Amino acid sequence: MNAERVKCLIIGSGPAGYTAAIYAARADLNPVVLEGMQSGGQLTITTEIENFPGYPQGVAGTEMMSQIREQAERFGTQVRADSVIKADLSKRPFCIETESGAKIEAESVIIATGASARWLGLESEREFMGQGVSACATCDGFFYKNEVVAVIGGGDTACEEADYLSKICKKVYLVVRRNELRASKAMQERVLSNEKIEVLWNSKPNEILGDINGVNALRLEDSISGLTRDVELTGVFLAIGHNPNTDLFKGQIDLDSHGYIETQGKTSKTNIPGVFAAGDVMDPLYRQAIVAAGSGCRAAMDCERFLSENPIAE
Ligand code: NDP
Repeated sequence: MNAERVKCLIIGSGPAGYTAAIYAARADLNPVVLEGMQSGGQLTITTEIENFPGYPQGVAGTEMMSQIREQAERFGTQVRADSVIKADLSKRPFCIETESGAKIEAESVIIATGASARWLGLESEREFMGQGVSACATCDGFFYKNEVVAVIGGGDTACEEADYLSKICKKVYLVVRRNELRASKAMQERVLSNEKIEVLWNSKPNEILGDINGVNALRLEDSISGLTRDVELTGVFLAIGHNPNTDLFKGQIDLDSHGYIETQGKTSKTNIPGVFAAGDVMDPLYRQAIVAAGSGCRAAMDCERFLSENPIAE
């Protein structure tokens, strides 16, 4: 099959990918967005977004993402429900193969593949996935109405999820491995003043227990005494951070020690001329939708400049 030639290929469909598409489309780069497995990215599995400028009353993640997508399509972006399975970035045009069997020759690539939720790595976590174990309170909280659940983690996400679940569930344990929360002061206060949330300090999850009906307890080890105990509950929500989605590019592109794509100075340029990175995949620090959107804009502008200075002879 002949490969299709694309001027600007954007991999990923979160705020970074779609914003890059808006700018690239308006600059006549005819961008193609490969959405990946989670169309709209991580924001489609969050609650209300209250801190994205322009939405004074807040907005649902799915709604905001479909609006940004619509805006990208309005200027001619092609959005495809397809995922990259192989990327050869060794020479231009870059060769991309997708799950649907398409082969694309891309004159430039903007990587906006985001980050994914981290898991504890317990055998039992895998066993009970979807049967009491989840990494998304907004997606699955509804199934635990008036039940007892736990959220694992002490960051902003964990606190946000615990707060959300406290409105649905009978009781929420917040399982924190140290004796302090990593979350912002505002989130800490919200959690600590919530009567339905009990923080279990210095607690390490050792095992998720259950039977054919699903999860029925969480085994915790006290990190000071080493003693274990089982807490009865029916749901365990993981909120222990994220990993950048860079497996496809390992060995080809410079990554930092945590696997995030390294970019040069204030630009979105990677070590490969013609390949740019935007959003959570290159941002271990801020990880906010508005920052990702801004970095998508930057990537499209860097890309436009690169293409005009480095045309490929037909
Ligand atoms: P963080 O990396 O900030 O926090 C992860 C938490 O999980 C930490 O408390 C960490 O513990 C704990 N943890 C990690 N691994 C394990 C493990 N194996 N077992 C038990 N606990 C573990 O991730 P978040 O997803 O919470 O936040 C990511 C970024 O996004 C942050 O910058 C945050 O501020 C931001 N954010 C902002 C929001 C907002 O502004 N509305 C909402 C949500 C997130 P320890 O502290 O001991 O390392």
